[in-house]
Amino acid sequence: TEVHGATDTIPRYVRVNLLKTTVHDVAQHFQSEGYNLVPTSDAPETLLPRSFFYDQHLSDLLVFPPKTDLHAHPLYLSGDIILQDKASCFPATVLAPPKGSTVIDACAAPGNKTSHLASLMENQGKIYAFDLDRRRLKILEKLTNTAGCQIIETQCQSFLDVDPQDPAYQAVEYILLDPSCSGSGIVSRLDYLVDGFAAAEDRRLNKPVSDPTARLQKLAEFQYTMICHALRFPNLKRLVYSTCSIHQLENEDVVARVLATHPTVALCDRSGVLPTWHRRGVPLTQSSDTLSSTEKHGLSEQDAACLVRCLPSKDSTNGFFVACFTPKAGTTASEV
Ligand code: SAM
Repeated sequence: TEVHGATDTIPRYVRVNLLKTTVHDVAQHFQSEGYNLVPTSDAPETLLPRSFFYDQHLSDLLVFPPKTDLHAHPLYLSGDIILQDKASCFPATVLAPPKGSTVIDACAAPGNKTSHLASLMENQGKIYAFDLDRRRLKILEKLTNTAGCQIIETQCQSFLDVDPQDPAYQAVEYILLDPSCSGSGIVSRLDYLVDGFAAAEDRRLNKPVSDPTARLQKLAEFQYTMICHALRFPNLKRLVYSTCSIHQLENEDVVARVLATHPTVALCDRSGVLPTWHRRGVPLTQSSDTLSSTEKHGLSEQDAACLVRCLPSKDSTNGFFVACFTPKAGTTASEV
């Protein structure tokens, strides 16, 4: 089917771990193995086998043809390269914490975005990485050790139990929040979309099937609560919220509700949020999400343009969503 075919058309994205090497050196390495470096393109599906190019949006990303298997490649095993979907590289890029800053990765495991943050920060500063799931945190520790990250402190606890007033977190200015979501944008799961990923999971586990919209609403409530908590950190400058969901209910609707309930919080201007990426958020009037309820808080065209979306069938990535919040000038988000 078309949906299954989509898995095969997503390029193999290779993120270069700047803690260990450079984009140039990795490109040279692949060329020395007979790979052909071709001009940057926005049509990765036309790539010939054993060719690659520099991604046009992310300076630490290389693009290879779909189905290129690099899991046994020495550069992958050494942590010099990370195999990570392009869209999943957006959150750390948009957060853009400077070297030496203090960052929270609120839902960090298994850790690809944490290691990306450390790479962008050149191992200078501090990253507090929280997750509820001990097993997944162990994977994070392994992955970030292989990647040579030295500024990460892991903690197995709910982000909601992290006290924003704790002196330990007064230096936190950047928060990445990538909470649990429906996962409806993940291409290999798109066949579940007939009536929602959660419903399909219920059936697989022989559980009673719950109403997909109710499941999404529950997730949206959780996501909203997590954002509100992040906004309570007193010295916050930027908060990136991301999901791998294609549902407006977990994306624009959550953002609109946050803006409606936090008058001192705004969306970061498009100029700081992957400005050249073409697909932006959906304003209320363009809503086409059948699973979305008639929502109470609309998003203006201008706000929607500050958001980033990826559509699996159109953008050669998994489905994804990114929003970046910031306190309005002269205020702190926690004033609300
Ligand atoms: N950011 C991760 C990455 O790039 O590898 C993926 C995160 S995954 C989408 C969501 C994570 O949120 C899961 O690992 C889950 O255990 C964690 N989680 C769920 N509720 C949480 C909470 N209250 N506090 C911290 N982590 C939580």
